[in-house]
Amino acid sequence: MHTQTTFQDDKAVLYLVSTPIGNLKDFSLRAIETLNAVDVIYAEDTRTSGVLLKHHNITTKLRSYHEHNEQERQEEIVRLLGEGDNIALISDAGTPLISDPGETLIKKVRDAGFGVSNIPGPTAIISALVASNLQTSPFTFIGFLPSKKNLKEKLLKDLSALPHTLIFFESPHRIHKTLATLYDVLGNRQTCLARELTKRYESFIHFTLSEHEKIPDLKGEIVLVIDGAKQQELSSHDMIEHVQLLIADGKSEMEAIKMVAKLRNLKKNTVYMAYKTQKKSDEPDNRE
Ligand code: SAM
Repeated sequence: MHTQTTFQDDKAVLYLVSTPIGNLKDFSLRAIETLNAVDVIYAEDTRTSGVLLKHHNITTKLRSYHEHNEQERQEEIVRLLGEGDNIALISDAGTPLISDPGETLIKKVRDAGFGVSNIPGPTAIISALVASNLQTSPFTFIGFLPSKKNLKEKLLKDLSALPHTLIFFESPHRIHKTLATLYDVLGNRQTCLARELTKRYESFIHFTLSEHEKIPDLKGEIVLVIDGAKQQELSSHDMIEHVQLLIADGKSEMEAIKMVAKLRNLKKNTVYMAYKTQKKSDEPDNRE
């Protein structure tokens, strides 16, 4: 165990500064003050950040920091901190490190004995969550799902029993495929698709995953907020009820059985036999 104090005498500090996610006015006074005061700002894309900095008359030296030059930039940043230069890291939008570069940098900087401080501000995660109409805690942020179908399904299956609101980032060109996979693996859940947050065309689409085919083609930036697993979905004695619910939502018997088996880590045949036995005993002739 060890405690690291951020501000130590004259030692330089790395500041993680959040920037707007759309509306240029969502920039805190402290963020502007810090970006003016540091010696160098590292940004994911210097052209994108250049526009923001110019808008706020920030003239600090700007250098790139992205996944392709991380290694060499990390060495440079640690060297500059050692020479007494205060540094800021920003991303294209929102909070650095949130599905953006910087995670390995923090470790290097801390290991070298320098303080790291966050200047809080916007992130699409919180803007989407608090306006979603869904439970705000507990929540689990996933970021972007893997693009490969099998990896996507495996991750979702691991999350399917979690009673936390789930938050995903997604791009408009993958949204339809992703919603279909979410429905297949998580079943029917209340969802909020938050689009273009803080911008002119901000909108929230509230729907259940079974309605995913009705979602129109979309442009812009998207966050998906999805209800967590309900206790009812988790208890084993209502496995059959779960199959029946999926059938009521429009799945065929076999699709519903397959989904329930997948979600509950059971053999398909186990669910099939239980469902068929129940169905038979529910038939009028077999009732006592
Ligand atoms: N670091 C950023 C943050 O803290 O919000 C996230 C960066 S990540 C590379 C970009 C993704 O965040 C987008 O594809 C979208 O899913 C989400 N996002 C960013 N800005 C958004 C906005 N204004 N409205 C909706 N989603 C947004």
